[in-house]
Amino acid sequence: YLELRGITKRFGGAAVLDGVDLSIREGELVTLLGPSGCGKSTLLRCIAGLTELDGGRIRLNEQEITDMSPRNREVGMVFQSYALFPNLTVAGNIEYGLRMRGIGAKERARRCEELLALIDLEPKRDDYPQQLSGGQQQRVALARSLAVQPKVLLLDEPLSALDAKIRRSLRTEIREIQKRMNMTTLFVTHDQEEALTMSDRICVMNEGRIVQDGTPETIYASPRTEFVARFIGSYN
Ligand code: ATP
Ligand code: MG
Repeated sequence: YLELRGITKRFGGAAVLDGVDLSIREGELVTLLGPSGCGKSTLLRCIAGLTELDGGRIRLNEQEITDMSPRNREVGMVFQSYALFPNLTVAGNIEYGLRMRGIGAKERARRCEELLALIDLEPKRDDYPQQLSGGQQQRVALARSLAVQPKVLLLDEPLSALDAKIRRSLRTEIREIQKRMNMTTLFVTHDQEEALTMSDRICVMNEGRIVQDGTPETIYASPRTEFVARFIGSYN
């Protein structure tokens, strides 16, 4: 499981993350919901090791990872823009992290086939990213981040660039894959319907803090602050 304690981050003078405490149990999917600029992406980048902390600690399965390099953290991340390698095929993209870790061709191919089946894209293994739809590209990005068997999966608005219909089918698919792999997952979205249907728990963030943490039912039925009530209530 993932444990964040007192995570603080400043850019210039302003605290963008202001003492974030958050625990995610193994296999749990927690959604971060909050207005633009409240610090969601920054928090994910801190967990992935892409942004240095100004304070606080991060633990993963009881191991301190606060000062580890991104590669040693066993954290996978998928971004809003797919950012696949354009010069590599679908299979090449999925295998990339395994190759970087020195895993042999046979084992790479075996894992790649498993992941292609998981995202239902076996016929596309030799295609290049630009030959795929946005939804297909995002599934490849997901497979690429799962290939190295991370302990935590961070998803930063992975569906927001897609049209509504694909978004709905892909969110079901991602949730199924996440459950099947029992993957500890932190998911960022602006889409409250997504949050409501996918999450075990929702954390509402505002100005660098988590202002409410509870099940989707609790958050929607009894918002604890006026901010949460207004933020949730403004959705239609
Ligand atoms: P959105 O929903 O729009 O993606 P967010 O909650 O992900 O927003 P962040 O990207 O975490 O927000 O940004 C939080 C704040 O930190 C913003 O005010 C942003 O301008 C600032 N910020 C983020 N990265 C940097 C950086 N590298 N340098 C300076 N300021 C930054
Ligand atoms: Mg963001």
